[in-house]
Amino acid sequence: MAYKITAECISCKRCLSVCPNGAITMVDNQHHIDAKLCTNCAGSIHTVPQCKAVCPTYDGCVEETTDYWESWFKKYNQLIAKLTNKQDYWECWYKTYSQKFSEQLQKNQVII
Ligand code: SF4
Ligand code: SF4
Repeated sequence: MAYKITAECISCKRCLSVCPNGAITMVDNQHHIDAKLCTNCAGSIHTVPQCKAVCPTYDGCVEETTDYWESWFKKYNQLIAKLTNKQDYWECWYKTYSQKFSEQLQKNQVII
């Protein structure tokens, strides 16, 4: 998994010079991370991904995932966090829903 720059990027150019692998370039006036060069800063002197660390936006620079549901939760968590200031809305929703569902199942098993 590599990092990618999204449409939320405001072109501040801070990330260009901090990447230890030179993975960030400008393509057609937009910032772009070459996934083949991005190592998530692993193996460098940095302990956190530098592009994300210096980015002044919330989601201008994000970790890319190929897993559909991981990507879905990430996207909508960010959206909900923006709207409500809650960071773990979907996890809470899922926990509550699965607990209620499990209680319902147990109730039905007792009836049967
Ligand atoms: S995570 Fe690190 S290696 Fe990857 S683009 Fe960002 S700064 Fe470069
Ligand atoms: S640091 Fe963030 S906002 Fe600035 S150019 Fe890079 S991705 Fe865009």
